[in-house]
Order: sequence, then structure tokens, then C-alpha cells
Amino acid sequence: MPTLISLFLRRTALGLLLACAFAGTAGAQTGGATGIIQEITNVVGLQPRFELRATHDVDNAAAVVYGGKRYLLYNPDFLAAVNRAGRTDWAGISILAHEMGHHLNGHTLRAGGSNPQDELEADEFSGFVLRKLGASLAQAQAALAAVATTRAPV
Ligand SMILES: [Zn+2]
Repeated sequence: MPTLISLFLRRTALGLLLACAFAGTAGAQTGGATGIIQEITNVVGLQPRFELRATHDVDNAAAVVYGGKRYLLYNPDFLAAVNRAGRTDWAGISILAHEMGHHLNGHTLRAGGSNPQDELEADEFSGFVLRKLGASLAQAQAALAAVATTRAPV
């Protein structure tokens, strides 16, 4: 019996899923991630028009559309691992903000998966959010370095 998430992943093969290439691993809880999403939406002045779901069916995180509904999926172990690697929560926040950036920039509204321009736009939104939430340049750089060097769980 396929789970809802496995159905999402099948859609990836159809090019309808926008998944991100975070080379990552990690134990943030859904509650923590929900709080982060709320903090992000507070500083950008938008409502989160997507559903946040913690799942081990994705290695890192992904912004997807399924059945006309937007989802932000993340692996809680991956999020925890990047936060441990960066010794700060900014890394996990940057990941969730990056995925939100895909949704808010409309990247998930078209088929074909991700591309370098979309990734840059999502990264730009993530950097904007980190600054708005009070991260210093050094903290933002350390967060992104942790994301880049953390391995996804096997
Ligand atoms: Zn991305």
C-alpha cells in the first residue's frame, strides 16, 4: 500500500516534483519546524499556503505539489544533522526557507523539476529570511556550509 509520500516521490519521476539537492543528513521535530515556518511567514508577511510534513520518505527536503495542493516535506533527521553540524539552528531554518522560496517564487507551479536559476532564487529567499530573522552574515555562511557538507541519511 503506497503512502501519500511515496506517491509524491513517484511524481518526481514524472517531473512534477521539485526536489532539492541538499547533500544532507539530521532530529528536528515537526513542532520546531512549524514554529520556524511561522517565524518565516511573520517576517515576509505571507500566509503559508502549503502543508508542512515531516517524513523519512525524502532524504533532505522538497517543495512539491500533489493533487493541486502544495507541500513542504522535510526529513527531521536531516534537519537535526545539519543543525548539529552547524552548531546552530540557522542551517535548518535556511533549508525550510529555501523550500518555501520555491513555493513562493512559483517554481512548483510548472512541470520539469528544478534548474540552477530556481535554486539560486530559492537560495536568495533563504538568505533574505535569515537576515530578517537576525542572522549575521557569518551565521548565514556557516549555516549554508553546514547544509552543503552534511550527508543525507542512508
Ligand atoms: Zn531547491
